[in-house]
Amino acid sequence: MPSVFIKTYGCQMNERDSEAVAAQLVAKGYALAPNEASADVVLLNTCSVRDFAEQKAIGKMENLIGISRKNRPDQILGFMGCMAQSRGQALIDKLPDVDLVIGTQKFHRTAEYLDDLLAGRRDKIVATEAEAGSQGAIKEHLLAGSAGKGAVTAFVSIMQGCNQHCTFCIVPSTRGAERSRTIPDIVAECRELVGRGVKEITLLGQIVTSFGKRDYPLVEGRSAFVQLLDAVHDIEGLERVRFTSPHPKGYGDDLVEAYGRLPKLVESAHIPVQSGSDRILKIMHRGYTRERFLGILQKLRAVRPDIGLTTDIIVGFPGETEEDFQLTMSLADEARFDNAYVFKYSPRKDTPAAAMPDQIPDEVIEERHARLLTRINEIGAQRYERFVGQQVEVLVEGPSKKNEARMMGRTRCGKIVLFDGDDRHRAQVMRLNIVRCGASFTLYGDPVIHLD
Ligand code: SAM
Repeated sequence: MPSVFIKTYGCQMNERDSEAVAAQLVAKGYALAPNEASADVVLLNTCSVRDFAEQKAIGKMENLIGISRKNRPDQILGFMGCMAQSRGQALIDKLPDVDLVIGTQKFHRTAEYLDDLLAGRRDKIVATEAEAGSQGAIKEHLLAGSAGKGAVTAFVSIMQGCNQHCTFCIVPSTRGAERSRTIPDIVAECRELVGRGVKEITLLGQIVTSFGKRDYPLVEGRSAFVQLLDAVHDIEGLERVRFTSPHPKGYGDDLVEAYGRLPKLVESAHIPVQSGSDRILKIMHRGYTRERFLGILQKLRAVRPDIGLTTDIIVGFPGETEEDFQLTMSLADEARFDNAYVFKYSPRKDTPAAAMPDQIPDEVIEERHARLLTRINEIGAQRYERFVGQQVEVLVEGPSKKNEARMMGRTRCGKIVLFDGDDRHRAQVMRLNIVRCGASFTLYGDPVIHLD
């Protein structure tokens, strides 16, 4: 039985793709290796969103080649995912020891490719062509939770690709145009997961709020995405629904209203803003203004005052002036995010922004990044402190990864809480009193004891 080790870089969609490929391989008779050294096959699932992510995966592969070709000359080495899609054959031209390159529409064929390589029927494989229907092929789950128990939470991929064409972003070329699965197909997958013990489902897509736009007409003013939320919400035994990542343009009144109407839809939203300057937002091709974005946050907070709001911000987009940057700083002050991913702008292959004049020098980007991150962290710390002394509801996922003696649960607004408990608490929805807020944005709680 050949064994496979998959290392994943990048976003939750990549994590999900890796899980589906691993589940597919297990179903086809492969074993999952505990580490790369012992594996017959090592696959790197790559990210292309920033140059740093690409360089990390290439460095890792060079490292594997150095070790593998000495100790394990028969080991199969492959790239999969976004960088595999965007670079294709060029990866093998650069690193001739690489055997396999699997693009983003070919994950479901991984076992077939490995069978051929292992049997010696083919020498090298580069599979990056588009394939109709591939968005419906990311379905299998391993559901490996901690301590050998099934997972309490699961991710479900509802669509592939992106049509927004933000001028900085490589995703439309690595993931292709938007293609959605059908609502019954997604609901069937969610039902099966709930049957296997899953309590919380996160719906995934590059822009989830654009789900099914061309396939499903509005029904009573509700978009296809809200219709999907309604259908998933109806699944008996499911406790919570999340989604990521949306686009601000998807926050119509139907979605805001869904937060008030659907109790299983948790009060949490990660809404990428990218910049606080309307001038930059326009050049980025984001399709909203600062005012519209802040208006969405206001509406969401009106419906769910405790909502946890997080975002993505890019600093140093070409032409960003100090004045533009100050607008991003002031947006952070006004929005009061619980947390934010602050990215340094990275020019990407074949994107319009990479060819724009006025690229910002690295030292300016570094300095703005540090300034914004400090502000985001200060606000985030205040947002966390507010939980101390409060009661929260958590879904217990299992032992804490850092400290196995403690159990870990997540609040509805997405915060991690550690508490003294044991395995009988797994998969339970519990109330905890928050007693303190530790470093690295972790809350500590005690179970609420009912005396009546
Ligand atoms: N769906 C999200 C949206 O609404 O834009 C995009 C998800 S993207 C894979 C994750 C984040 O990476 C983006 O929100 C953006 O902040 C960041 N990102 C994308 N391209 C980038 C680039 N060229 N340089 C720096 N950060 C980038």
